[in-house]
Amino acid sequence: MEKTLSIIKPDGVARGVIGEVIKRLESNGLKIIAMKMLKMNKAQAESFYSVHKERPFFQSLTYFMTSGPIVVMVLEGENAIAGYREIMGATDHRDAAEGTIRKDFATDIEKNIVHGSDSPETAASEIGFFFNSYEVTG
Ligand code: ATP
Ligand code: MG
Repeated sequence: MEKTLSIIKPDGVARGVIGEVIKRLESNGLKIIAMKMLKMNKAQAESFYSVHKERPFFQSLTYFMTSGPIVVMVLEGENAIAGYREIMGATDHRDAAEGTIRKDFATDIEKNIVHGSDSPETAASEIGFFFNSYEVTG
């Protein structure tokens, strides 16, 4: 069993698709083992996305991620990291496959509704960024 971190970004919460995203996760065999809603400040967003600090979109991305509440979840399942990224679709919604979350709901390469960890190492560190061990029920 693998764990991964999922975020429903501010645009997803604002557009009222929390339920739709969760439905797709659960119906694809991903079990939610931790969940909360919160609003990040700029320093937290910069820390979370520190791997991207040299990228031209860093300031815009971290500002966007503080623009409203987000829903953070820990998902568990077989191949959860790759499986969830497949359900999310490509970063740029114009490249995303039919039926993916980003294809159906994203409006912009930045405002792309969801985040998902990209490796076991980043999953562990991203889960630890948002949750204490006793908040992760799996
Ligand atoms: P995430 O890390 O959010 O799951 P990802 O792994 O598909 O998405 P990354 O390359 O890690 O994409 O980029 C992180 C986030 O930065 C993207 O989800 C998107 O919100 C934003 N982003 C990526 N590329 C661009 C870009 N060229 N212009 C603006 N924003 C971008
Ligand atoms: Mg990424």
